[in-house]
Parts: sequence; C-alpha cells; structure tokens
Amino acid sequence: MKRYRIATIPGDGIGQEVIPAGATVLRALAKSMGSFEFEFENFEWSGDYYRAHGVMMPEDGLDRLRDKDAILFGSAGDPHIPDHITLWGLRLKICQGFDQYANVRPTRILAGIDAPLKRSAAKDLDWVIVRENSEGEYSGVGGRVHKGHAIEVATDVSMMTRIGVERIMRYAFRLAQSRPRKRLTVITKSNAQRHAMVMWDEIAVEISKEFPDVHWDKELVDAATARMVNRPATLDTIVATNLHADILSDLAAALAGSLGIAPTGNIDPERRFPSMFEPIHGSAFDIMGKGLANPTGTFWSSVMMLDHLGEPLAAARLMSAIETMTGNRALHTRDLGGTATTAQVTDAICNSLNESF
Ligand code: ATP
Repeated sequence: MKRYRIATIPGDGIGQEVIPAGATVLRALAKSMGSFEFEFENFEWSGDYYRAHGVMMPEDGLDRLRDKDAILFGSAGDPHIPDHITLWGLRLKICQGFDQYANVRPTRILAGIDAPLKRSAAKDLDWVIVRENSEGEYSGVGGRVHKGHAIEVATDVSMMTRIGVERIMRYAFRLAQSRPRKRLTVITKSNAQRHAMVMWDEIAVEISKEFPDVHWDKELVDAATARMVNRPATLDTIVATNLHADILSDLAAALAGSLGIAPTGNIDPERRFPSMFEPIHGSAFDIMGKGLANPTGTFWSSVMMLDHLGEPLAAARLMSAIETMTGNRALHTRDLGGTATTAQVTDAICNSLNESF
C-alpha cells in the first residue's frame, strides 16, 4: 500500500485546532479509500517554541522536513511576538528554503455559503490565483539605518528576476491551459512602476507564445479589485506578484464568504522539495481554544495536497464531502453565521467519508 509521509505544523492559535482536524479527516479518507495511508509527523514549531528557544524552528528544521511528501501547515502569528519574526522565522523559511515559488489559491463559493456578491454573479466565481512566492516585494532586500533620527532611512526593495518571472508565468499559463476555460489574467502595475513591472509584462508576452490556446489579458491591480466584484465571470486563472496577489487573494476569500474556508498551496512545481498546504486564515487568537474555528480551509488545503500527491479520486471525494457539509447550515461555524463547532464539522466529514463506502 502506498504510504505518504506528511509533516504537520499546527503553529499558533487556531492552527492548533484545525491541523489535528485535518489529520483526522485525512486518516478517515485514507481508510475509506483503502489504497494508501498517511504517516504523520507533528512539529511543534510556533510562538511557544520561540519563547522557549529564541527561534521559530530549529536550525536543522528544513532537513527534518526534506524527505516528507508534503507539509500541512496551520498558521504562524502570536500577539506577543512581532509578525516579521513569526513569518520570516517559520513559514517564509520553509517557502524559500524549499523554493515553493508558486502560491496557488483556488476560490469558489461553496454550496450553502452566503457570500457578499449577488447570487447571480456568485455562481460565476471560479478562480485560481497564482501568487509569485519567492521574490518581488517580499524578497527581504532592504535595510534601515539611523533609527530614531531625523535622517532615518528604510527601504524594502522589490526584486524581480527574469528567471523568477518566467517560471511563475509559465506555471500560470500551464495551469490556465489545464482548466476548462483556458483563460489567464496577468495582473500588473506597469503604468506606475516602470522597471520591474514592465519586464513582468514583457515576459508575459514572451511566455504566452508557448501557449497559443490560452486566452489572456492584462489588468492593472487597482482595476482588478473592481473587476473581481463587478465582473467575476470574466476572470479564471490570475497571476500576480507576491504583494498584489497577497491582497487580491484576501479579497477573493472575502468574496467567497469567509476567511475560514479559503485554502492555499505553496508549490515547488519541479518537485525537488515537499510542497506546503495551509488555510489562508491566520492564528485568530480571538477564538482560539474555544473549539469554534472553521476547519474547512484546512480540509480544502488537504484536497489540494491530495491532488499534488497524485490522488485525484481521493481529492474529489473529500471535496464533495466538504460541499455536502457546507450545504448543511446546521454545520456552519460562527464565521459563517452558525453555531457548529470544529469537532462537529470534523465528525460530519469523517462520517460522510465512511458512509460513501
Ligand atoms: P494573523 O495575525 O495570524 O494573520 P489574525 O487574527 O490577525 O491572525 P486571521 O486569523 O486571518 O487574522 O482572521 C481574522 C478574523 O477572522 C479572526 O479574528 C477570526 O475571528 C476570523 N477567522 C479567521 N479564520 C477563521 C476560522 N478558520 N474560523 C473562524 N473564524 C476565523
């Protein structure tokens, strides 16, 4: 029997609740499929780990993850530790260390979810946002000198490399080509940023020639926000820089009904290293420890992980169990206006997976 080695990193806040829920559902799924199993190893790297050791993860952390087939990640963020430490010390260390250069975020309005868009527009919302995940505005290049003095200077330099832009464009065009509508929108800001973003646009044109069957267009990031709200059906696959896609995908998650639902994958398309899957929400300390967290984002991220592992049947089965669950309002958590708990939602999914056999 095939055995997948999965690292779980719950991290902070509700990550501690949704990741165990995800592992429970994946175990139930594997049992119901009978053709593969999971071997989980849990890593308690988090804000608490930082308080005890002064680092978010040990020095050999990446080596301990390297031989896994995939990573399921919760969230990193602690109200008492600066965000740049929790982010750069764990999540970004893994994304960059394993060159997970494509961050992929599907968005749909699932059955039974009330979303802010009119229902007629909502049925047309079916997007995948591809975020450049290794450079751009979040490359970490910059500095700060003369702290506290009038002459203080701080810079964050956006780095775009030809190789980095080519590979994310190629990934996005290929993904667009694999989807029924074969449509790609390239997000840009080359009207105001006249160096890197102009190169970004030029490379989009170059790469598009490799994909003559993909219909593609270009949209300024500011205009894209309005288009997402007013004409969602005109979008399908979307590719954007690290910062632009970060913002657009939170908008996408809100338009789809809740942050608690949205999934993401940090993918190494060349499969040299494990890819990492995570809900897009943060640690949500306001509801932690109360059993109220919506685990759907983690379940949907697990669907992406199964697809990546080459288990499309299992992925489809879990996605269908998720939509059956969201279609039942009695199973909506507080973020969706309901009263269901994390445990109730998890049990419901496990039961429906058992029943389907
Ligand atoms: P971080 O600083 O780690 O990004 P945050 O608390 O600032 O975390 P999020 O966790 O992304 O930001 O969420 C904002 C709010 O949305 C939370 O305070 C919480 O009330 C709600 N929320 C987010 N995720 C969930 C979830 N899975 N289930 C229920 N509510 C959620």
